Amino acid sequence: MKKTVSIIVIATMIVGLFAFTACTPGDVETPLTTYDIKATLDVDGMTVTAEESVNYVNETDSELSSVYFHLYPSAFREGAKYAPVADSHVSDAYPIGVDYGGITVSTVAVNGKSCEWSIGGEDQDVLMVNGLTLLPGDSVDIDMAFTLDLPLARHRFGYHNGIVNLGNWYPVACMYEDGAFRTDPYYSSGDPFYSGLADYTVSLTAPTGWNVAGTGSVSTSINGDQTTTTFTASGVRDFAMTASDKYTCLEEQTEKGVTVRYYYAQDQNAEAHLKTCVDAVNTFSELFGDYAYDSLSVALTPFLYGGMEYPQMVFVSNGLTGDLLEEAIIHEIAHQWWYAGVGNDQINDAWMDEGLAEYSTTLFYENNPDYGVDAKDRIADAMQSYVLFTEAYEEHIGGDTSMNRRLCDYFSQTDYSFHTYVKGSLLFDSVRHTVGDEEFFSALKTYYKTYCGKIASDEELIACFENVCDMSLKSFFESWINGTVGLY
Ligand SMILES: [Zn+2]
Repeated sequence: MKKTVSIIVIATMIVGLFAFTACTPGDVETPLTTYDIKATLDVDGMTVTAEESVNYVNETDSELSSVYFHLYPSAFREGAKYAPVADSHVSDAYPIGVDYGGITVSTVAVNGKSCEWSIGGEDQDVLMVNGLTLLPGDSVDIDMAFTLDLPLARHRFGYHNGIVNLGNWYPVACMYEDGAFRTDPYYSSGDPFYSGLADYTVSLTAPTGWNVAGTGSVSTSINGDQTTTTFTASGVRDFAMTASDKYTCLEEQTEKGVTVRYYYAQDQNAEAHLKTCVDAVNTFSELFGDYAYDSLSVALTPFLYGGMEYPQMVFVSNGLTGDLLEEAIIHEIAHQWWYAGVGNDQINDAWMDEGLAEYSTTLFYENNPDYGVDAKDRIADAMQSYVLFTEAYEEHIGGDTSMNRRLCDYFSQTDYSFHTYVKGSLLFDSVRHTVGDEEFFSALKTYYKTYCGKIASDEELIACFENVCDMSLKSFFESWINGTVGLY
């Protein structure tokens, strides 16, 4: 995700085909979990009805008696314990006042038969399919039907001004770690999502004339006044769509044949923004390693923050203009390397993908001087704003400046943003100056190549830099990650 942070904020704050051929480890023998979802959008009622068939593969070393799924849309219901929007951003998210939505699961079956299932979790946001005997490497067919009630909201899940966002919208399997499923709720800070690679076939039927952008390769089938858009994607961590009868789509190929699509309802500079998308894919492919998929869709959507990353799909706020819009596009595309490619625990280690995505944005400008943004100035601004932030933070609030806090342990969105994006980008710039350019970019390439298609821990990231640079860097990294107020 990209939030817009600036010194001004501080002043006011004191208050498919190529799927993973580039990077899937060649020794993966176990097939991935597959999702087959058929959904229909009712644009009058702003609801979605869907049937989801999951072939869940037990990729753990444990015998499982249950499989858990996140029900993220539950966070949008009235009375949710964890609202998906911080109080400070309610008016941005809900332009005509708070509107509720949610998900209702009506049926669940295992291998075609009725089964034990219930909804629980910390916030009634986890579907638990019980009574299974699933050995390591075995799989089970889980079929479910559900309906979605979309809120009128400028958020990952919702609609506004005829544009529908379907991000984190379907039951998605929880990660299984240390003998238990991860059931982290929908925190309002950061991107509280964490899921494993899977293969997807998803169709959305909507009125003819509605254009749908989503994760993966796309085809359409028109049946009178209804059109079904079908996406297929292999080896992706998540699946997202956005739909509108207002979308225009521009398309261009990158130097290495990646199809980049840019969707917008209103944009006077659409051609230039498509070029920025293509330039970003080209630049990051050169700096870090080839983009892992054959296509990328970028859509201007109603969104309260700068943007939101999904595999092969990027939401960028249609409320942005000028430099902020350009920056958001670049930042979100960088997440195709740092999140979609190399995964990390976004709940506990958000600095890993956000710090790299934000520093990658600076690297983009450094490598594309025609854009007229001085990379050194960008780093200097980040440093200045972070120092101002920490001074204000210490004087008025005090507290923790570590970067490895759980999302719910940041005291505000601003606290989260300054530590994961701003301090995160400064950390990587500092590492670069410590080890030198050649070693730094070699380490980033190795990190991408080694962990693309996997989840990297903070320790693995540090070890990767230590190995490539042949330097002891652990205490250096940790002084930043665990750091106290004031960098220098
Ligand atoms: Zn981000």
